[in-house]
Amino acid sequence: MAPVATIDCDIHPAVPNIAALLPYMSGFWRDSFVERGIDGLEMQSYPPGAPITARPDWRPAKGPAGGSLEAMQVQALDRFGLDLAICNTLYGGQVAVSETMGAAICSAVNDWIAEQWLDRDPRLRASIVVPAQAPLLAAEEIERKAADRRFVQVLMPVACEMMLGRSYYWPIYEAASRHGLPIGLHAGSMYRHTPTSTGWPSHFLHDYVAHSQTFEDQLLSLVTNGVFVKFPDLRVVLIESGVTWLPGFLWRAFKTWRAVRPEAPWVRESPVETIRRQVRLTAQPLDAPDDPRVLDRIIDQIGSDEMLLFATDYPHWQFEGDAALPPGLDPVLIARMRRDNPLATYPRLQEAIA
Ligand code: ZN
Repeated sequence: MAPVATIDCDIHPAVPNIAALLPYMSGFWRDSFVERGIDGLEMQSYPPGAPITARPDWRPAKGPAGGSLEAMQVQALDRFGLDLAICNTLYGGQVAVSETMGAAICSAVNDWIAEQWLDRDPRLRASIVVPAQAPLLAAEEIERKAADRRFVQVLMPVACEMMLGRSYYWPIYEAASRHGLPIGLHAGSMYRHTPTSTGWPSHFLHDYVAHSQTFEDQLLSLVTNGVFVKFPDLRVVLIESGVTWLPGFLWRAFKTWRAVRPEAPWVRESPVETIRRQVRLTAQPLDAPDDPRVLDRIIDQIGSDEMLLFATDYPHWQFEGDAALPPGLDPVLIARMRRDNPLATYPRLQEAIA
């Protein structure tokens, strides 16, 4: 394989319908979905026709955007010169209330993505989707798929049933850590709780903007409950979190930790150091103005140029044309985001270029 120049850390193949998954299910679940007529489990918070759901030029005449490998090859893999791309499949198994149904759907999605996508384009890698509503079943699913080295990450929605630092979730982190798989927390919710701390918003606009607060909450939960101490090799990737909230968040976390650290003595170092070392963020959607000096300042305030990962978020509409990166960025930073940072974040991607 030629030297890798660009790695996309967030693209979205779409499961066309439940029928596509039935061949990857047991007889019981096949019968259940057919006899009960269950379908339409796309895990998108917004209406299918909403502009943010798919870029107009990436929206097919029929079926969901992201539903065709051939379209993805033309519109993303070839168009952006992607050498490797991580498929993050968003589908209802990750949010189902039934633990066993959620696990069955997630397993089917993982087998489907391997056979229908990874087998057909060597540039593709994928996340293992897991039912985080059933952490022990999620850990079993990680064990089942981890031997396939094309799976490079474990994927969960950022808003689950509890705060993610709770020990309830630690079996997932233990399995992921042992197999060298980062935990990807993607924007999205099980909607067991309101997306804001004070109630249900009335509009998608509010829901979408408020999402960065959810990322802040979960990140602080992971830090203060000692997840990064318990699993020192674990990496967490915040996907579609935005990035401009991070400097202020780090400053507040550091200042408050200094004041009340006796309360949590297991948090042995500043949250800033922990987060810089073990947390990464994808850079689309980028919630910064076009002025490159602003992003330079934000990275300077974060204190690390190793945290941002290149992503197109295909087929979602986050930027126009080919401008997956804002203009005027330092070429050294661009190379880090496109190649060095993803390779450092995902150990299994290093095997792809070895
Ligand atoms: Zn995404």
